[in-house]
Amino acid sequence: MDIKANLQEVKKTFLNQDCQLVAVSKTKPLEDLKVAYAAGIRDFGENKVQELQAKQPEMPSDVNWHMIGHLQSNKVKYIAPFVYLIHGVDSFKLLREINKQGKKLDRKINVLLQMHIAEEETKFGFDQNELNEMLNNTDFKSLTHVKIKGLMGMATFTENIDQVRKEFKSLKTLFDELKAQALPEFIQLTDISMGMSGDYLIAQEEGSTMVRIGSAIFGGRS
Ligand SMILES: *Cc1c(COP(=O)(O)O)cnc(C)c1O
Repeated sequence: MDIKANLQEVKKTFLNQDCQLVAVSKTKPLEDLKVAYAAGIRDFGENKVQELQAKQPEMPSDVNWHMIGHLQSNKVKYIAPFVYLIHGVDSFKLLREINKQGKKLDRKINVLLQMHIAEEETKFGFDQNELNEMLNNTDFKSLTHVKIKGLMGMATFTENIDQVRKEFKSLKTLFDELKAQALPEFIQLTDISMGMSGDYLIAQEEGSTMVRIGSAIFGGRS
């Protein structure tokens, strides 16, 4: 697996060079991350708290660690001191816990709200009603140690490009509608995290600002 060549190949195909690449290194050994680092990558995505915790101290301190997987509230404390961006915030309970841990550390923690855009039942995320409920909750408005930077979504795992496109479009629409609202100061919407190895070009066509790419860089996972 020529990670450096893969990275160059992936970057070359980008429709928007300003789109942030998060190299998804889950299950991959440190040697692979180091090769990507040497090739210029500073943003790494992991989906398990334990793995993130194990890799973080072994890599240079200027790495931006992205937690891209489902996060349980009771595990927030383990990554709160160093995590750069938590992509998968899918409940008010989790957001409150992140805020609590941020407060303890005197650190504002960057998060994205994960929206349920896929047809599949299994994908996590807020639906529109749940999001509105949270936004209107008085406790929500008094959060002090989180920064909501945008939205994240995952499309249905399907060959049907039209469906994937439709789902990404729906996330962009949600983002634009949310941005048009009067929001508390801790919500600064700049990012739409959508697109993976199989669909990042469609995602970029539909307005993605951040793609999470694993297998196209590091090869398949067993
Ligand atoms: C694994 C994973 C990715 C990367 O998937 P690839 O298809 O290997 O690019 C992106 N986002 C999330 C949330 C993931 O869990």
